[in-house]
Amino acid sequence: MQERLKRIVIVGGGAAGWMTAAALSKVLQSTDVSLTLVESDEIGIVGVGEATIPDMLQFNLFLGLVEADLMRATQATFKLGIEFVDWSGDGSRFFHPFGFHGIDIDGLDFHQYWLHCRAHGHPHWIGEYCLTEIVAKRNKFAFPDMRVAGAPASFLRYAYHFDAALYGRYLRGYAEQRGVRRVEGKVCNVLRAPETGHITGVQLQNGPTISGDFFFDCTGFRSLLLHQALEVPWVDWRHWLPCDRALAVACRHAGPLLPYTRSTARTAGWQWRIPTQQRTGNGHIYCSDFMNEDEATAMLLDGLDGEVIGSPRLIRFATGHRRTFWEKNCVAIGLSAGFLEPLESTSLYLIRQGISRFIALFPDASIAPVMRDEYNLWMQKDFEQVRDLLVLHYYANGRDEPFWRHCRNMVIPDTLKRRLALFSEGGRFLRFEGELFPNASWVAVMLGHNVIPRTIDPLVSSRPHAEIGQKLALLRQAMNGFADAAPTHEEVLRQYCASSAA
Ligand SMILES: Cc1cc2nc3c(=O)[nH]c(=O)nc-3n(C[C@H](O)[C@H](O)[C@H](O)COP(=O)(O)OP(=O)(O)OC[C@H]3O[C@@H](n4cnc5c(N)ncnc54)[C@H](O)[C@@H]3O)c2cc1C
Repeated sequence: MQERLKRIVIVGGGAAGWMTAAALSKVLQSTDVSLTLVESDEIGIVGVGEATIPDMLQFNLFLGLVEADLMRATQATFKLGIEFVDWSGDGSRFFHPFGFHGIDIDGLDFHQYWLHCRAHGHPHWIGEYCLTEIVAKRNKFAFPDMRVAGAPASFLRYAYHFDAALYGRYLRGYAEQRGVRRVEGKVCNVLRAPETGHITGVQLQNGPTISGDFFFDCTGFRSLLLHQALEVPWVDWRHWLPCDRALAVACRHAGPLLPYTRSTARTAGWQWRIPTQQRTGNGHIYCSDFMNEDEATAMLLDGLDGEVIGSPRLIRFATGHRRTFWEKNCVAIGLSAGFLEPLESTSLYLIRQGISRFIALFPDASIAPVMRDEYNLWMQKDFEQVRDLLVLHYYANGRDEPFWRHCRNMVIPDTLKRRLALFSEGGRFLRFEGELFPNASWVAVMLGHNVIPRTIDPLVSSRPHAEIGQKLALLRQAMNGFADAAPTHEEVLRQYCASSAA
């Protein structure tokens, strides 16, 4: 008879631990499988991570969360994309929006039509055909509306800026209501079966041993189970993503609440600016080979746009992932599995991927290696696809400091090389199954970094550009009309989800 897993133990209660607990409590409801989460108040959580991508909506929908309630509880604002400032030299700017540019015509990509018109002197940037970007730049917000295919609002997409620690707390309430048992304590020993090497339990300091059949390592950068106990080695990507330090600090709001993240290039890294309802989160990601902590701190504090709250906190990190994400009877989710710096706000997405891929391959007690191997393959692909977009930002920069020259001269991953070659030649894409970033993201980032295709799709360039220009004018008019009528971001927040603490 097929034996089932009976006792699942999650070690770690950061966003990764509670997202895992919440999702498993949902799919395991009405079963006799026990879910226990162990976390240590003494160790605490990493406590950064405020920007998300639209994928987060799917996760919340799957859990059945009420959006306005969640936003209120997590101090959330809406996020429509990321503005990249100074990446091609001081004064340069471009926007990586959620959502799409224009509308594909006769099955051919919109950006090809735009390139065609541009080659004939068309003065408008492609972002002027992206409704999400237009709305964002006016500090407005509107919900997508899918009822009429092709209508402007059907092209909108959004995510949130929120307090990830509050998000974890919110999900803790959700998971505990569905039977997850929380144990407070510090794990001091991981017990393993001598014959198989499988984990059998975690021993708490001055406390009991929590036994289980399957374990999730959500212990953050420590990677207590996967790395320290099971000795899964690290795959280092520092040669592609050389930043290794973050300084994080909050400040008071100054000016309107922008519905987008801002990422500003600095001498040896970049600075984020993320508005939640109560404060603005700021951080300076930098490379310690090119800048020391004092310089990095001064630069961060100098770049704040409101009064600082507290003092900057230093976080050391390495970029890469564990060689395997699932080893024996243990899956690592979150920072214990790997880390890609937050330039595209993808960490919570990778957590979500880890959880949903595990659910799709949920094993029985035999833990068939085929499930594990498939999981590891897919998670590696997920990490690699995100990595490529991040590396592109560094590699295609147009700045002149030693750090940025170093990035321009690095040998990039083969997959990114192929992506760049295809786009530079003819604005085409390399796409993998299940890829996170839509073509619109690659278009925005490539063009934003001045990677302009050498040729235009002949199926488009053979069409009369004047006629296309007229279509583009109508599109711009419709999108601007929509944006004119949209409420401001702050109005929507006030009416929909104002937090009492804000
Ligand atoms: C600088 C920076 C900026 C970031 N920005 C973003 C962003 O904008 N968007 C985004 O999506 N993500 C971002 N992230 C990532 C995000 O912070 C994490 O992915 C997320 O918070 C999940 O962290 P975690 O739960 O894996 O680890 P942690 O929050 O570190 O949680 C680890 C848990 O394990 C427990 N633990 C550890 N050791 C033990 C032990 N021995 N016994 C018991 N319990 C133990 C701890 O107590 C804690 O509960 C950022 C990360 C960094 C470093």
